[in-house]
Amino acid sequence: MNEARSCSSDTPVERILCVEDSPTQAAHISNILTRDGYQVDVAQDGFGSLALARETKPDLVVLDVMLPDIDGYSVCRKLRSQSSQYIPVLMLSARQEVEDRLDGLEVGADDYLPKPFDARELLARVKSLLRIKRLNDDLQEKLNEAQESFNVWRRVAVTDHLTGLHNRHYLQKMLQEEVTVAARYGTSLSCVMLDIDHFRDFNNKYGHLVGDEVLKGLAGVLEKGSRKADVVARYGGEEFVLLLPMTDLEAAALTARRLCKQVASTPLASEAGNLKVTISLGVAALPDPEINTPLKLIAKADRALYMAKEAGRNRVVVLGPEDCPPRKLTE
Ligand code: GH3
Ligand code: MG
Ligand code: MG
Ligand code: MG
Repeated sequence: MNEARSCSSDTPVERILCVEDSPTQAAHISNILTRDGYQVDVAQDGFGSLALARETKPDLVVLDVMLPDIDGYSVCRKLRSQSSQYIPVLMLSARQEVEDRLDGLEVGADDYLPKPFDARELLARVKSLLRIKRLNDDLQEKLNEAQESFNVWRRVAVTDHLTGLHNRHYLQKMLQEEVTVAARYGTSLSCVMLDIDHFRDFNNKYGHLVGDEVLKGLAGVLEKGSRKADVVARYGGEEFVLLLPMTDLEAAALTARRLCKQVASTPLASEAGNLKVTISLGVAALPDPEINTPLKLIAKADRALYMAKEAGRNRVVVLGPEDCPPRKLTE
């Protein structure tokens, strides 16, 4: 057994698939590799080798070109397409023409060894290919880890950590996109901005932690009460925004009124049994000649929200295209 491998007993034995139709040749190759500490599986034809490769997931394939069913080039090509993992292929052939070597390398073989070969040369090439395989696997693992952390951070970057809703940054990005879509296709887009009534007093009375519980509970009500295509975001401390694509002012007003009632009647924190809060909501929508930028849509919904506060809170104000002052004030 080779010294490097015998002294590191905790590293798994590398597995080599030998594809060779001649039993004598197969035994010869197998002996050389086994003596050097590798685990060897033998397949005697092309299709058999592909099935065995799926099963044993070899670290390296030693592949004869001349096989009884399909040739080694086809095996190499199929091997590459059936496995997402990189498996180095060392091609063996009695044919020594330059074209043969090029054919092999062209279909994705990593190295080419003419027969008859010297056992030491076979081992040297096997070792070098396995080293490349290990480097490749390590690199792939690091890439996967990096991709995973990237995905986590991408999610964190658009999420509000207290409520789990989307954050303001994400809302602004989506607002930009949805306004562009609405303008291009002439579709409607509604924006509902809402704010908890007298929340400072609530915090002072019950404490900030209970206030946080209310924010989380409210986020749940908003999320449950909206559709999948809607964007529900925490805009600031106790302000939330709903972006409703393909929704006109009337439909958005209905949603806002429903949410207003729902919040007022749902206990959102458990301190002293059932603590409720009320919210005020402002609604604006595209198309609206007054609104020609994404920010103006938010600004108009904010203006409507301010009017709802002024009018006594726990209500919805809808600001349509010609409403300035407001067209309707609704409880
Ligand atoms: P209004 O009805 O006019 O909206 O009155 P308000 O007291 O709700 O309005 P104001 O904007 O003056 O106060 C907002 C309060 O929201 C202040 C702060 O205590 C609370 N708040 C903001 N962010 C958080 C948060 O993350 N957690 C908790 N518990 N409270 C928050
Ligand atoms: Mg052969
Ligand atoms: Mg408030
Ligand atoms: Mg506020």
